[in-house]
Amino acid sequence: MAAKALVDKLRADGRDIVDFTIGEPDLNTPDHIVEAAIAALRNGETKYTGSNGTPALRRAIAEKLARDNHLSFAPENVVVGSGGKHIIFHALAVTLNAGDEVIIHAPYWVSYPHMVVVNDGVPVIVQGSEADGFKLTPAALEAAITPRTKWLILNSPNNPTGAVYTAEELAALGAVLQRHPHVWVMSDEIYEHFAYGGARHVSALEAMPGVADRCLIVNGASKGYCMTGFRIGFGAGPVKLINAISKLISQTTTCPSAISQAAAIAAFLGTQEAPREAARVFAARGRLMAELLSRAQGVAVHAPRGAFYLYPSVAGLLGKTTPAGVVLDTDQDVVRYFIEAAGVATLDGSVYGVSPYLRLSFATSEQQIREGCRRIVEACAALS
Ligand code: PLP
Repeated sequence: MAAKALVDKLRADGRDIVDFTIGEPDLNTPDHIVEAAIAALRNGETKYTGSNGTPALRRAIAEKLARDNHLSFAPENVVVGSGGKHIIFHALAVTLNAGDEVIIHAPYWVSYPHMVVVNDGVPVIVQGSEADGFKLTPAALEAAITPRTKWLILNSPNNPTGAVYTAEELAALGAVLQRHPHVWVMSDEIYEHFAYGGARHVSALEAMPGVADRCLIVNGASKGYCMTGFRIGFGAGPVKLINAISKLISQTTTCPSAISQAAAIAAFLGTQEAPREAARVFAARGRLMAELLSRAQGVAVHAPRGAFYLYPSVAGLLGKTTPAGVVLDTDQDVVRYFIEAAGVATLDGSVYGVSPYLRLSFATSEQQIREGCRRIVEACAALS
């Protein structure tokens, strides 16, 4: 959000900026979903709903979880919130006591540690590495668990690295959790539609059914259905937790937008061609960005894995000097150099907990990807 504000400001100042910081699909919301929202308005679905969401949407989500993720949930096991972020925040708020620990694997989505801290918890950051494919290993998980651990947060496909866990990798983490029955698992599957190069999204709960009584699945309509502005996310898990989240929602936002909920039913139960098409578009753009960036000296790019981000190492740029005489010491310096000298906005790995890397979003047009990568290649060649 801060990066978006900076890009908007620079553009307002007249700068021509290529924006690779975008965290949402640039594609339009599919027509049948928009029509469902309009029909809801015309039908007078413009009032409060239950704080856990409408029965029709919770039934639709239970159906979606069975169809796509092979998970068996009743509508009572589902709570709808104003985005996946809203669900994660409320889940932490209703479960964390002061000092409770939450295991978060780095690089991580920036909001997790902040949401833990706001709710009096302690983020326990497990440092990931490229050598492990940026995935949490069973040994690292085992070492991070203490008697104070309340949650492990998993996120696959991952923001920012795109890492997609296999069923076997998830099952191995599940085996560790079997030995620690006090640890709950929050599986953030918001990017489930976006796995590339033969990778396939598997729900954590499908791979580790043994943790069903202490697992919260978080997902939503934002990314897969290009509905970020509708603000619809959901949690699926044990009834006691779901009811606690819903009780807190009733005291914070009352309920998610009734109109957006009607639209989300069309998303989850309508044709699934839209997320499939979005995945095809992003896969092609990710490949293009990786190929073009591989020409940038000092940037070690990988093939797109999942979500809509590349997370290349920029270790090869550190120690180099810009034409203005500035030495690049950190990935933050690289971000500053790219935006100032090349007009390309990226995000530094330090934001996500592992440096020196950049996060580049390919949720933008092919033309912008070509132009932005051309500028990055040029900017890298100008370093000495
Ligand atoms: N989880 C991850 C990893 C994300 O990147 C995001 C959004 O950027 C979300 C959850 C939240 O999405 P929303 O609140 O729009 O459902």
